[in-house]
Amino acid sequence: MGICDGCHAGCCRSFAVPITGADILNLEHATGLTFWDFACRWADHEGSIARNYAPHFQFQDEPGTDFVICLMQKESVVLPDSSKCVFLSETPPTVESPLGVGNCGVYGSRPSACRAFPTKLSRTGEMAVIHDVPERGRGGSNPAYKLCPRPWEPADVDPLEAPRDLVVAKYEMRFFHQLAAVWNREPRDWAMFPDFVRVVYANRVIPEAADIVLDESSDQTATDDDEPQTIPLPVLRNSPRRHVA
Ligand code: SF4
Ligand code: SF4
Repeated sequence: MGICDGCHAGCCRSFAVPITGADILNLEHATGLTFWDFACRWADHEGSIARNYAPHFQFQDEPGTDFVICLMQKESVVLPDSSKCVFLSETPPTVESPLGVGNCGVYGSRPSACRAFPTKLSRTGEMAVIHDVPERGRGGSNPAYKLCPRPWEPADVDPLEAPRDLVVAKYEMRFFHQLAAVWNREPRDWAMFPDFVRVVYANRVIPEAADIVLDESSDQTATDDDEPQTIPLPVLRNSPRRHVA
């Protein structure tokens, strides 16, 4: 039995989950939902949501605020006064499971950040390293935010999937940083963001003759090599929908 089996999933309740454009498109494809059904922007005044991992975006309708694109949270149905990821399904508490059981409703298409938890790439990028998971994911005493019932062991992690998921997560977040650099040059309204993402990702495969050019103004926070990439600034029409989260 895996460490997560039967857990109430405090991780899916405690943390803001930053998502990339690839996560957004995967989730839309897998669920039939739209960006507005599961994504939101969280103001990140302290940088504690981005944690040098996810990029900051600025928007015309709220200038001067750094936002991180994350999964939405909703009120928990079974654990009072707590919130949870919009995709977490819950079963009510029982004697055997006093906090109930939480299951990811999009497990096969869950975002890279979820796939990676609680691992990171080793310094050389070849191994998966297990983080020390704290006892709680949020302050206070609400039991909903308790984390793993025991420390993670290497045997809890798939030795083939974990490094691969980490490499993909790193690549996709690096691309998303570059997308943010392009967006932030000329921030537009929040309502236009998903269209921008769709256009950029639809053009991510290019013919050999087009070559690629380094976008020198992009934020390189998430990069550690010189691999060049370009994101063209797409032309967008005004979107009829306007959402402010
Ligand atoms: S997408 Fe799934 S794994 Fe990720 S936080 Fe939500 S419920 Fe948890
Ligand atoms: S809190 Fe820990 S054990 Fe529980 S679902 Fe999350 S990662 Fe798994």
